[in-house]
Amino acid sequence: MARIDLVDLAHSYGGNDAAPESFALKPVTMTWRQGGAYALLGPSGCGKTTLLNLISGIVTPSRGKILFDGADITPLSTQKRNIAQVFQFPVIYDTMTVGQNLAFPLQNRGVPKSEVEARVRQIADLLDLTFYLDRKATRLTADAKQKISLGRGLVRSDVAAVLFDEPLTVIDPELKWQLRSKLKALHRELDLTMIYVTHDQTEALTFADTVVVMHDGRVVQSGTPAELFDKPAHTFVGYFIGSPGMNIVPAVVSGHEARIDGHIIGLHRNYGVLPAGAKIEIGVRPEFVNIAAPASGLLSAAIERIDDLGRARFARVRIGDAKFAARVPPGFSVPDDNMVGLVFDPAHVHVYADSRLVEGVA
Ligand code: ATP
Repeated sequence: MARIDLVDLAHSYGGNDAAPESFALKPVTMTWRQGGAYALLGPSGCGKTTLLNLISGIVTPSRGKILFDGADITPLSTQKRNIAQVFQFPVIYDTMTVGQNLAFPLQNRGVPKSEVEARVRQIADLLDLTFYLDRKATRLTADAKQKISLGRGLVRSDVAAVLFDEPLTVIDPELKWQLRSKLKALHRELDLTMIYVTHDQTEALTFADTVVVMHDGRVVQSGTPAELFDKPAHTFVGYFIGSPGMNIVPAVVSGHEARIDGHIIGLHRNYGVLPAGAKIEIGVRPEFVNIAAPASGLLSAAIERIDDLGRARFARVRIGDAKFAARVPPGFSVPDDNMVGLVFDPAHVHVYADSRLVEGVA
């Protein structure tokens, strides 16, 4: 396994002369540490597969370099990069047994027979495939075939990294839960660098130690699930992660105060005077805005509807033109006129200028 450095890496399918805004991957410089469990998360078309294919060598970058353990591998073929890949759909040999399928990547590299047998048993055991080892793959379900694909991706211990491109798409929802947790356990046990592409936040947050969020060809934040939740570096991260997503509302900010429609929300930090001409917004997760009985000193808002998510209830409220999702405390009953007060937790109200987080002064 290897540490992977991306150095000013960018790609345009329309060639190097294309307009910078049209690049499928805008320039990115970042490090993926050896042995890390990463998820590459973002909506369809944001550039996840492009980045994965640049790392594997399927696509050659328009600009920049990729280093494995400090060595420039940008010109090398996929095979020479020593990468294992698991795709959306099973890639296995139907005519071989499950055991032969798992052994194939090792035999192909001339690994001694005793080592092959031991590793195949270990991987089969970890993926609950031991029972099927002598069965022909052709007779198995789509789920089982994809498990074999996962096993083939994980069987070699000498790979620079294992890349997964939406590997659980074809898996039945119940088994998906199990496999997600299993992949996390496999990562701990096998100590491999893993990069897992998905558009599903639950999959990303369950699997990864570090989640890399992409939006419109850019890496907008790389952090632990807690960092992405507590302090989104970009409004897109706030909106994309969490259910419901973060409230992002235009505001006028100066010093320790944000004004929305003439109402004041106290801020934990001092923002001084923000750049003129920038689009200023505040972001606060619904978990940190509570509904309360109307009272002086509280922002007053009108409830439009209440969503019961089982684990919690969230109200959709309106202050002037601004819409918020806010937590409804257990036992709270909505007044007949639907008017309530809002209690913000100032430590969790963030300020954004042109969609980027502004760090205030303590
Ligand atoms: P999805 O989850 O839908 O696969 P993604 O986040 O993986 O999306 P990419 O497949 O990397 O995104 O696509 C990023 C952009 O590059 C998109 O605008 C897409 O249309 C474009 N693109 C991808 N592959 C090619 C290609 N071979 N030729 C031209 N444009 C491409």
